[in-house]
Amino acid sequence: MEPPSPAYRGRFAPSPTGRLHFGSLVAAVGSWLFARAAGGRWIVRVEDLDPPREVAGADLDILATLAACGMTSDEPIVYQSRRASLYAEALARLEARDAVYPCWCSRSDLEPFGGIHPATCVALRDASREPAWRVRAPAHTIAFDDAIQGRVAQDLARDVGDFVVRRADGWFAYQLAVVVDDAAQGITDIVRGADLLDSTPRQVLLQRALGLPTPRYAHLPLVVDARGHKLSKSLSALPIDRADPLPALRAAWQALGQPAEVINRSSSVAKLLAAAAAAFAPDRIPRTPQPVRTPTGAAP
Ligand SMILES: [Zn+2]
Repeated sequence: MEPPSPAYRGRFAPSPTGRLHFGSLVAAVGSWLFARAAGGRWIVRVEDLDPPREVAGADLDILATLAACGMTSDEPIVYQSRRASLYAEALARLEARDAVYPCWCSRSDLEPFGGIHPATCVALRDASREPAWRVRAPAHTIAFDDAIQGRVAQDLARDVGDFVVRRADGWFAYQLAVVVDDAAQGITDIVRGADLLDSTPRQVLLQRALGLPTPRYAHLPLVVDARGHKLSKSLSALPIDRADPLPALRAAWQALGQPAEVINRSSSVAKLLAAAAAAFAPDRIPRTPQPVRTPTGAAP
């Protein structure tokens, strides 16, 4: 008999654009700890909807690094690239509600508007090529309460404009795919990096437009170097050492504002994670970017 589905369902959703870097490890550990603390499930989803940016084999590499860090998905791993029919169905529902429209505007068409799509299209209908599909941004503010960042509100019409949910090249946009998958997978809690905070109001809008529940959100602080700069690409891209993941896990724990002494003497990944899960206190997570010494000890 199937066990009753747990109340808490969290997820970690990496894009296979390279190896798991330290900033992503913090998001993985953070979402894992929230799920374990709630006695819930932790599910990995691969967000592979942008082939030009993807690296062959990066999905398996990321999963192997997570496994070396003691974290494996509680359910089979979902690949967004195999779920286009679900996204197409959602787009059809939006179209039926007149919430989306086809758009042939190019990036350069939108330049005079600061990249924000104006109320009416600049480019004319062009039957010779596929359009992108855009969602109408509402005239009112979209707001939600974040467990770490507090109240977040955004005027989508002013700050973002009508945004793309299906690209002209046929691929579905991240915003739509994430909303469809979170609902289909019954995700109750989204714990991820604050770099995605700006995307959340768009996702909340899509949830409402599709009649889907809005999960709870917790956006983790970004990891920065000692001078307060976002970790440089080269530095943050330093791979986690799978043969010795303990330093990276300790650094991730500290990036989440948790006390080092709890796990300092843990001699294995399993012991470290058990101690961390037992002592994890979400209210210690800071709101602002955290300067962290990178696990490799490289000087920033
Ligand atoms: Zn347009």
